[in-house]
Amino acid sequence: MEIVSAKYIISSATYKQCPGPDKPEYAFIGRSNVGKSSLINMLCNQRGLAKTSATPGKTQLINHFEVISKDGTKKGTGRAWYLVDLPGYGYAVTSQKSRNNWANMIESYIRKRPNLGCVFLLVDSRHTPQTIDLNFVQQLGEWQVPFVLVFTKADKNKPGATNRNVKSFLDELQKTWEELPPFFVTSAIDKTGKDDILDYIADINAE
Ligand code: GDP
Repeated sequence: MEIVSAKYIISSATYKQCPGPDKPEYAFIGRSNVGKSSLINMLCNQRGLAKTSATPGKTQLINHFEVISKDGTKKGTGRAWYLVDLPGYGYAVTSQKSRNNWANMIESYIRKRPNLGCVFLLVDSRHTPQTIDLNFVQQLGEWQVPFVLVFTKADKNKPGATNRNVKSFLDELQKTWEELPPFFVTSAIDKTGKDDILDYIADINAE
């Protein structure tokens, strides 16, 4: 699948303000600075679509983009879906109040959005498993939403380090999970993982 166009639609403070659930939707979330904006821009072939390196923790809004994609096997058929950029977690300087606001907003959105097809949880591939990410995986499991893992910034690692960190993360999950989620390894610099993620979305869209 290829993205033909992507445009910003709206930023919402609560799930109730989101656009009508008239298209399939895929949401991206992760720790601040994990590379979420860079990944979204890479997927959409648009450098400035999601803002890279905006002041972390400042934008606590649900950002909707409308995407038109073309499936290589179905010539000319443009499919419309929403790509959603969710505010990141784990920024040290935010207050308890804003952490609570974030948690409430995210929980309502993820649990109540009827057209949400999959959550893409981004994890920085340079680090060994971080509790904050493992906890969020746990949360997604409890909410019973479909999700996948995206290990970002693979180009920054020495050979072998990405695989080691991915394995450690999955090993941690395996302690409590019977079934592991699908995962992708990505780099916004060399576009690793782009086609795999887009094809994964195309497959869900086709269901
Ligand atoms: P966000 O806060 O999760 O949206 O993260 P950004 O996309 O703004 O990225 C945070 C920082 O990491 C920026 O300086 C990016 O240039 C850098 N970055 C993001 N993705 C990659 C990547 O795949 N490779 C490398 N080398 N740097 C990246």
